[in-house]
Amino acid sequence: MPPVPFDQGDLGEHRPEVTGETAAAITAALRRIADRIEQFAADLGGDADSPGCGLEIAGVDLTLRVDFDDVAFGADLDTPRDPMTFGAAPPPPWSLRAAIEVRCAEPADCGMHAIEEWRDADYDDPLEAALGLEQAVEWLIRRGREEPLGRWRERDPRHPAR
Ligand SMILES: [Zn+2]
Repeated sequence: MPPVPFDQGDLGEHRPEVTGETAAAITAALRRIADRIEQFAADLGGDADSPGCGLEIAGVDLTLRVDFDDVAFGADLDTPRDPMTFGAAPPPPWSLRAAIEVRCAEPADCGMHAIEEWRDADYDDPLEAALGLEQAVEWLIRRGREEPLGRWRERDPRHPAR
C-alpha cells in the first residue's frame, strides 16, 4: 500500500482499539506536526506537499520527511516487524527515529548519510508515541533553523567538502 498524506489516511483503520479522547489527542498531535513541518518547509524554501514529503501514513507506520536539494529532515514512527515474514506486527512498541541526512556526494551514490540523529526511543502507548514524534519534529525544526542548509553537506564525515 503506497504511503498517503496523513490527512487522507485513517489512523483508526490501523488501531481500531484506540478510540475516544486518546484518538482525538493523537490526531491533534499529528495535525500540529503536519502544520509545523509544512510551515518549516515553506520558510526554508521547500515543499512539504511534494510526493514523499510531509507527514504520511505508510501501512501502519508514520513517516515524515522534508527534502531540500541534498539535505533531508525526517522522522519515522515504526511498528514492529514479524521476524518470519518481515510484515508489520501489532504494536507496541512504536519505535521512533529522527535524523538530518545528506545525499551521498560520491559518483557511486551510496544513499543518505545521517549527520545528526535524535535519540531513538520505543513507546508502549500510542499517544506517548505521537507526543514523542512531536518532540522529535520540534528538534528537527530547531536544528534546521539554527544551521544554514549548506552546512549539513560540509559536515558529512564520510565525504567532507573538498
Ligand atoms: Zn556515500
